[in-house]
Amino acid sequence: MTDCLFCRIVAGEIPAEIVYEDEQILVFKDINPRAAVHLLAIPKIHLTCLEEITSEHQMLIGHIMVQLPHLARAQGLPDGFRAIINSGPGGGQEVGHLHVHLLGGEGLPGFN
Ligand code: AMP
Ligand code: ZN
Repeated sequence: MTDCLFCRIVAGEIPAEIVYEDEQILVFKDINPRAAVHLLAIPKIHLTCLEEITSEHQMLIGHIMVQLPHLARAQGLPDGFRAIINSGPGGGQEVGHLHVHLLGGEGLPGFN
């Protein structure tokens, strides 16, 4: 049993609105959406933040990035989206399991 919220979502212990899953990653809707589309793409393995990744994780991180435009199009965003990674407390990260925010559509906040 882990106390990491997103590991618990991966394990199916906490429900989430999953929109995509494969062996390496899980993508689900943010519970507090900041735009019409707000997804979180996470590695299934626990990595706290970007500080923790090494060359060993290059394929995994690349895999997440490659999926983003497909996910955006599938969510009805044909002409672009914003991807954000908050890494560590200094980056405003609140959930300590690496995740990429995918945001777009109505209500997309300004970048500041
Ligand atoms: P960050 O500040 O980058 O760590 O972002 C964490 C994000 O996780 C926030 O946008 C939250 O709304 C979102 N979040 C927290 N708990 C859940 C949950 N149970 N299911 C989906 N999203 C969540
Ligand atoms: Zn975790």
